[in-house]
Amino acid sequence: MRTCMFCQEKASSKEDIWPQWLTKRFPLSEASHMEGERGGHKLGTWQTKTPQLLPSKCVCGNCNNGWMSKLESEMKPIVVSILDEQLRALDASSQAVIAVWAIKTAMALEALYPKRMFFYSENERQNMRAVSAIPERTSIWIAKCVNQPNIYSVGKDLRTAPGDNEVKAYVTTMAFGSLALQVLSIRTPASLPKEISITYDSREGPWDKTFLRVWPLIPYSQQWPTNYGLDGEWGLEALTERLSPIINDQG
Ligand SMILES: [Zn+2]
Repeated sequence: MRTCMFCQEKASSKEDIWPQWLTKRFPLSEASHMEGERGGHKLGTWQTKTPQLLPSKCVCGNCNNGWMSKLESEMKPIVVSILDEQLRALDASSQAVIAVWAIKTAMALEALYPKRMFFYSENERQNMRAVSAIPERTSIWIAKCVNQPNIYSVGKDLRTAPGDNEVKAYVTTMAFGSLALQVLSIRTPASLPKEISITYDSREGPWDKTFLRVWPLIPYSQQWPTNYGLDGEWGLEALTERLSPIINDQG
């Protein structure tokens, strides 16, 4: 018996990774891929031609028709107003909806690759379902894309050099048309004191003008769209590749 990835009930429905209101707008999209990287060497790339549906049943009817459907109905008007170029500002409650939707989707996308070990733990998935909790040391951004007519998603494992203080991170980059979302979660070893901060190396780019952070939450309205956009698939790849974690001993 397969169990629901969010609550451990018996899984009964195929989860639409990308909701129909979204896939209808991007009917030509067909590829989605994930990559793993270790110490700069690629572990592999996984591809799928049907990213709309999970390959196996992995959520239960209660989750699918309950909190997931509610989250979808909160997210839809925000995304539609962005794609229709109507949105001018993102208030704190919209930022929170985007953040929860993005982490839910990042978690659900992991189910596309059952042979790879999930980055997010069962605990993190259950807390997300129960109280919309976003895992510790997670940051979420949104960016504007131009010349990007597809649905795009990449999941990437990142880590510092192996050792006692090894830090692992997982970054999910996704886009549908003119909207890109990026979720970064960092896992630190128990031996690393909480006060030590983890920063990440960011490749050069006008990133602060290209995206807005929506998590941790910014408690005021942020102007949208941003001044810079990511150009086509190249721009999305630059976004995917921009991060690598480093331990900041200076705290
Ligand atoms: Zn469930």
